[in-house]
Amino acid sequence: MIEVDKLSKSFNNLEVLHSVRFNVRPQEIVVLIGPSGSGKSTLLRCLNGLEEPSEGLIRVGDVMWEASMDAKKKKQAIRQFRTLTGMVFQSFNLFPHMTVLQNIITAPLFAKKVPKKEAIQLAEALLEKVGLLNKRDEYPSRLSGGQQQRVAIARSLAVRPQIMLFDEPTSALDPELTGEVLSVMKQLALEGMTMIIVTHEMKFAQEVADRVIFMSEGSIQEEGEPESFFSQPNTERARKFLQQFN
Ligand code: ADP
Ligand code: MG
Repeated sequence: MIEVDKLSKSFNNLEVLHSVRFNVRPQEIVVLIGPSGSGKSTLLRCLNGLEEPSEGLIRVGDVMWEASMDAKKKKQAIRQFRTLTGMVFQSFNLFPHMTVLQNIITAPLFAKKVPKKEAIQLAEALLEKVGLLNKRDEYPSRLSGGQQQRVAIARSLAVRPQIMLFDEPTSALDPELTGEVLSVMKQLALEGMTMIIVTHEMKFAQEVADRVIFMSEGSIQEEGEPESFFSQPNTERARKFLQQFN
């Protein structure tokens, strides 16, 4: 579903991703962990077409970005990455001047040219899925953080992405509100959505991950199944990192 090879990314000559390589299979749940500043967000942003890599290759579904392609083809690939992947951020980023329903139908209506009636039907089905159909006509400011994040997930799903990317989706929430967001994500996982999740929720990671990737200083240090990774990490760096969650 996703192939990443020799991916590097620099900002003004400072390389923050160094030759990153990994694959994600259809329906796989990959949890990406690592210290702050290790490049997790930059990696997701490259997959979502919010950043352009400096070197290497990214394939999402049938769409390929390769450093050696001509500029026009690369730009086209990046535009397609944006619709193939749905991204959920730490800050919910809902449009404050739009109702919940309007937030969800905007991208289908204007970017995907879905007829309005159909867009509304899909939005209502997605709101039902995240348990917020009764908030359809509220404005984001009237919702709790957990509810806003569930709307943000519904909004990402509305363009029917093939892969969902989550960048610390519960980090900005009060602890009592994280559960409702994590359970929506678990449900998506059960339904077979392919997902890459950056999180510090280690218990959740152990429960849902098919594979854990540990990054540090812009490189993948190790990856493995959650059982072995969490009980017996191979690298000293991962051991140190995991200690803070015990
Ligand atoms: P993480 O998500 O793991 O905390 P990030 O991907 O946000 O890490 O950041 C990795 C490194 O890239 C950090 O050193 C950060 O300062 C740098 N960085 C991220 N975005 C930019 C940017 N737009 N311009 C310059 N440096 C950036
Ligand atoms: Mg980050």
